[in-house]
Amino acid sequence: MNILIASNNLHKINEIKEIIFNLATNSINLLSPKDLNINIVPEETGKTLYENAQIKAISFYKIAQIPVIADDSGLEVDALDGLPGINSARFSINHDDKSNRNKLLSLLKDKTNFNAKFHTVIAYYDGNKTLFFNGECNGTIIFEERGNNGFGYDPIFIPKGYNKTFAELTENEKNIISHRYKAIKNFCENFINKLK
Ligand code: IMP
Repeated sequence: MNILIASNNLHKINEIKEIIFNLATNSINLLSPKDLNINIVPEETGKTLYENAQIKAISFYKIAQIPVIADDSGLEVDALDGLPGINSARFSINHDDKSNRNKLLSLLKDKTNFNAKFHTVIAYYDGNKTLFFNGECNGTIIFEERGNNGFGYDPIFIPKGYNKTFAELTENEKNIISHRYKAIKNFCENFINKLK
């Protein structure tokens, strides 16, 4: 079976490929947009991670005409009613990681609950149906930035059960507990590995 990964981010494509390669018991041929000469950037106009993942999956399907998976992720902070959520990448005016983190910390200044979770939704679309697969990683936001690895909100997020931030963990350590890993694992266990 061929499946297109609907992302233009090479790092993300490779991460998804590696996880599926390790977890899939059925043989799946994973393709990137580049493999099919597809060059589009769908507008993420949805109001939820589910809608945005689906928009991306359907947009790529329309061109590729083969099954597609697309993912959308965000950080959901309890004291901010789930913000920044789908706006995680563009939370501050500047849209860069540092300003996004600073905006988040300024909104949390007077709060007492610092619980948060990273959430990934994977949408699979095959022209007939959309299936969704979730992955979550619970943790806490801290006010002091720690660590140089990763990206986004990693330096201020400590996953539950750890005393290091995501940015202090190695890529391998983060990848086996991350929201993205859990969503892809869910996709493998509940879809790919059940294909006959
Ligand atoms: P995407 O949907 O994976 O591109 O993620 C959207 C945004 O959510 C990113 O630009 C980051 O701000 C944030 N984000 C998603 N995953 C992570 C992560 O693993 N660490 C830190 N920030 C993340």
